[in-house]
Amino acid sequence: MRIVRFLDGEGVLRHGAQQADGTVRLIEGDILGAYQVTDKTASIRKLLAPIAPSSIPCIGLNYRRHAEETSAKFPEFPILFFKGVNTVQNPGDPILLPVHLRSTQVDYECELAVVIGRKCKNVPRAKALEYVLGYTCANDVSARDWQKEWGGSQWCRGKNFDTFAPLGPCIVTRDEIPDPGKLGIRTRLNGQVMQESVTGDMIFDVPALIEFLSGSNTLLPGTVILTGTPSGVGMARQPPVWLKPGDTVEIEIDGIGTLSNPVKLE
Ligand code: MG
Repeated sequence: MRIVRFLDGEGVLRHGAQQADGTVRLIEGDILGAYQVTDKTASIRKLLAPIAPSSIPCIGLNYRRHAEETSAKFPEFPILFFKGVNTVQNPGDPILLPVHLRSTQVDYECELAVVIGRKCKNVPRAKALEYVLGYTCANDVSARDWQKEWGGSQWCRGKNFDTFAPLGPCIVTRDEIPDPGKLGIRTRLNGQVMQESVTGDMIFDVPALIEFLSGSNTLLPGTVILTGTPSGVGMARQPPVWLKPGDTVEIEIDGIGTLSNPVKLE
């Protein structure tokens, strides 16, 4: 099932199940609890990020070729940081280039996002996927100057500006993606492919990440795990490529869809 979150014609927040013909059937109940797909159809006035996350743990340097392009050693454990819930942005809404705390080095990162559906703690890898509601596309937008130079060696500053976590366009439930390690993933900037990889290049795969994160933290329903980005980020290019006003960034994952956002000045 493809779960969308949207405002309907009256401006009411709804969840729906997108059908093969493009129509949407209303979901009643809580997608993180008990819910059912009804036979009522709905019109989408505005598509929203498919979930309002309870938290957004993120993994850095989790693709082999991306670790190589940044000259980083392969990590012994997953590298964890968090994005705030303020960073979430809807499909189609702009990534805002910071003006107040100014950045001139804003970069894109396509990522597979894992949506946790049930509360869990200390989950072994063999059972990890049972707690997954589904998957969506994410862009881990990063201000590299704040991440690398002015953030006191913490990544959080550069990763936590408003609009720096576009999510969407839908959550594809896990029954439709039995192996999240076999998905093609790419970024297009103004139509040009900048990142192109498969999730099988991850150093720590999705079950390993759930085992690792839940080994220290209770994962609440609605936790959205950003699983790292493949090679081809703007900062590793010669010359570097930074986002600028008027750009369009598309994150595409096979079997999920395309998350598209324009870029504007704050
Ligand atoms: Mg990232």
